[in-house]
Amino acid sequence: MNMYENILRHPGPTPIPKKVQLAMNQDIFSHRSQEFVELYRETIELVKPVFGTTQDILLLPSGGTAALEAAAVNTVSAGEEVVVITVGAFGDYFVSICEQYGFHVHKLEKEWGQACTAEELRAFLQPLQTIKAVFVTYNETSTGILNPVAELAQVIREETDALVIVDGVSCIGGAPAEMDAWGIDILVTGSQKAMMLPPGLSLVSVSERAWDVIEENQTPAYYLNLQSYRSWAEKGMTPNTPAITLIYGLHEVCKLIEQEGGFTQTVARHNLMKNMVRNAMKALHIELLTEDQYASPTITAIKTPQGIDLSEFLLHLKQHYHLDFAGGLGHLQGKIFRFGHMGYCFPSDILQAVSLLEAALQDFSYDFEPGAGVLAAQEVYLAAQRKALQR
Ligand SMILES: *Cc1c(COP(=O)(O)O)cnc(C)c1O
Repeated sequence: MNMYENILRHPGPTPIPKKVQLAMNQDIFSHRSQEFVELYRETIELVKPVFGTTQDILLLPSGGTAALEAAAVNTVSAGEEVVVITVGAFGDYFVSICEQYGFHVHKLEKEWGQACTAEELRAFLQPLQTIKAVFVTYNETSTGILNPVAELAQVIREETDALVIVDGVSCIGGAPAEMDAWGIDILVTGSQKAMMLPPGLSLVSVSERAWDVIEENQTPAYYLNLQSYRSWAEKGMTPNTPAITLIYGLHEVCKLIEQEGGFTQTVARHNLMKNMVRNAMKALHIELLTEDQYASPTITAIKTPQGIDLSEFLLHLKQHYHLDFAGGLGHLQGKIFRFGHMGYCFPSDILQAVSLLEAALQDFSYDFEPGAGVLAAQEVYLAAQRKALQR
């Protein structure tokens, strides 16, 4: 060990704000106590704007995958037809879950690094009948693609009676979300990505339309039974022992979002960081995996700089500069690295990371003009600051 702290720039888990750490460091109480009911009710109200919903938010003591599984198993039965849109590794998760439960899966698959467009989805849905649900990854963490989920939801509503089930695990808390206005039926996220918390809590919101389907469905689930979450939520509680510590933390996260000036400001910060990173890489002549149009506000996939051995480079960055990026998944391993800029991350962190990245590029004799990336990132930041000052 050394005394430097690791600068964690992964797309999850992500750093935890000091105030959230302190909030979690409180005495525990019973989940059947009045104290818990108050904490629970207040937290749920505070988190609703982040989902863009007036529906309840259910809290599961689980990772994001369990919440995806809950969304699937509560709505669809074996043999029923579903569509899964997959544009990367996490879309494939949804495929595996649906196949595991014996759903009849129609897979709309895109090349990794591309988004699914509304036109493609419409053409795919038109010949299909009796689709029970369409599963969409909002932010594909393996490639840094933000699917146009509002447009996709609209197409699903126009072409089918299917439920719109969205995995928002790596972007809710950093990307815009209007669950009600966009017609999303189930929206799911986890704690350890843009929500600035440790792993172990997941959040699920369900539309009225989806509840009707869930009530009719023969759900072979016990711990992940959403109806039991709903009936306990009416009492301000959860069916089993919840992750109380993480709920303390979630309450504080919502307070921090309020202090930032509301969720719109939090989303604006993420967009700014995205633009800073992308501009920096362009100035360094390092290619990005995705087009600007569908670029994620929470994670940027960056192609391996010319002539560099990526695994050596990432190790060097970590060992010598304490900067920790994530590598590529699946067939993109060695070809890209992933720069996480979600949750507890600010423009100053981007300037720091780009500067350290440049230092390592010099160590690897990469041909570029030192400072060009930092300057490009700074220009984006400055322009945003000036605009803010004018208001
Ligand atoms: C991380 C992630 C998951 C899985 O969440 P876990 O908490 O690891 O179970 C699912 N979907 C997406 C898009 C993710 O980024």
